[in-house]
Amino acid sequence: MKPGTKLEKLQTMVTRCRKCPRLVTYLQEVSKHKPRRYRDWDYWSKPLPSFGDPDAQVLIVGLAPAANGGNRTGRMFTGDRSGEWLFNALYQFGFANQPNSFRADDDFKLDDCYITATIRCAPPKNKPLPEEVENCWPYFLEELDLLKKVEVIVPLGQIAFAQTLKSLRQKGFEIPSLSFGHGKIYSLRTPNSKLLTLITTYHPSQQNTQTGKLTRPMFHRIFRTVKKKLEVEP
Ligand code: SF4
Repeated sequence: MKPGTKLEKLQTMVTRCRKCPRLVTYLQEVSKHKPRRYRDWDYWSKPLPSFGDPDAQVLIVGLAPAANGGNRTGRMFTGDRSGEWLFNALYQFGFANQPNSFRADDDFKLDDCYITATIRCAPPKNKPLPEEVENCWPYFLEELDLLKKVEVIVPLGQIAFAQTLKSLRQKGFEIPSLSFGHGKIYSLRTPNSKLLTLITTYHPSQQNTQTGKLTRPMFHRIFRTVKKKLEVEP
């Protein structure tokens, strides 16, 4: 991300945000009680900036950072199990230069893809409170304005899907009631008559991947569909 751009300034503001006292306290607690395997890590333990290609056509919307994943490494999805699934799929379809990323300084790069989340601080038990999601919402809304080339949005899981719909409605999209499921494709007309595609997927959380609710072929199909959409759309 180029320094000095509005997107970059927004991310700097995010990392300084302290709007949710419960989460600020929790992040301090997390860095004081690190699991043994990460005891040598200097935890990020602040709000996480979103990242990726500012000219991306594909926007991925996650839920929240993991306490010992992104919150540890300082970059969304980096160093956690969900990230391993996501980055692997992105690499398979040409949206990332490496099949995984363990540290924020390992030269991992996204191409034509940008990753954000509905909430930027890791919440206890991965469950943000509604008011915390609300506090974080303006950052996502601003990103939707700044990421001008997005044509496909992939919200990861039902909460990100609901928050994406709510945000698009707020931006003036006329969207009927849409149901969530894995692999649904919705074509939406932007207020200025451009097409935007929403592709739904189950979240690659361990709860879904370890139970077989989400398999690798299922998850990779989503990104194959994304790729095809970009090839078909003019
Ligand atoms: S969750 Fe969002 S709004 Fe709340 S403190 Fe973190 S960055 Fe700020």
